Amino acid sequence: MRKHILLIEDEAAIADTVVYALEREGYSVKWCALGRDGLAAFAEQQPDLLILDVGLPDQSGFDVCRSVRQQSQLPIIFLTARADEIDRVVGFELGADDYVPKPFSPRELVARVRAILRRGQPQPAVPAHGLRHDIARAQISLDGKVLDLTRYEYRLLAVLLAEPERVFSRAQLMDKAWDEPEASFERTVDAHIKSLRAKLRELSPDCDPIRTHRGLGYSFSWDRQ
Ligand code: CA
Repeated sequence: MRKHILLIEDEAAIADTVVYALEREGYSVKWCALGRDGLAAFAEQQPDLLILDVGLPDQSGFDVCRSVRQQSQLPIIFLTARADEIDRVVGFELGADDYVPKPFSPRELVARVRAILRRGQPQPAVPAHGLRHDIARAQISLDGKVLDLTRYEYRLLAVLLAEPERVFSRAQLMDKAWDEPEASFERTVDAHIKSLRAKLRELSPDCDPIRTHRGLGYSFSWDRQ
């Protein structure tokens, strides 16, 4: 079924490119230039995802977000123009799912939309004897046995596990799993993936859920290879 996206953005030029990029990907998009109109459209149409500009002429995107959050937990992506807006969004006080600083490429926004909508879908059933991530304990277990992982092995596997089938580039993995990505080398990712695979196989010889995508990066798949 086509996913429905509501875009609230007062700059027509930005809205046009976003609508075009999303529609080309098969999404149906409703565009509103004012917060007031956006809230009306939201109530009427029950969109699957909201893209929300922070700086709107009639009310702030934060106010719109608060109104929406009283009724719905749908994913919200903020479009932000200023650093202080980003600080507030990132502060999570508003329950945003993501933010995209302006200027942005429509392609990047579409990729975020796709990732968030996919994440929102029910995950494939986890095999009874599979990998389990206990976030509270920061532990990942395989077939009920806790894996003995280093900090970066754990973070890498957690990132991959959170979005099965998504292909991450080495740079993206480094960015998400390392404290100081710029101080590390992408080859470090390869080394940690290698040791992770070895640890998984040690516990279960046929367990190789991390896939290599040549020239692209890595992804996680529940299907045992
Ligand atoms: Ca604006």
